[in-house]
Amino acid sequence: MGIGDRHQKKDIEAALRRAEACGLKVTHDKSRHTWGYVICCPCSDKFTVHCTPQSAGNEAKKINGFINKHRGCA
Ligand SMILES: [Zn+2]
Repeated sequence: MGIGDRHQKKDIEAALRRAEACGLKVTHDKSRHTWGYVICCPCSDKFTVHCTPQSAGNEAKKINGFINKHRGCA
């Protein structure tokens, strides 16, 4: 991700960094309700990251769950 592509919620930003470190692809989508996606290229599964989730902590946990599920795919 480039500069300016950071998520405004630091818990989520940290989870996105972790996803990248595990080899998952993080894309920033500029549409209104969606911040972007975490994508597992080998199995084409993706997780939708919201801009303003009701709970940033929960969203970060879900991203971590996605990482744990897919870190073995590559
Ligand atoms: Zn996968």
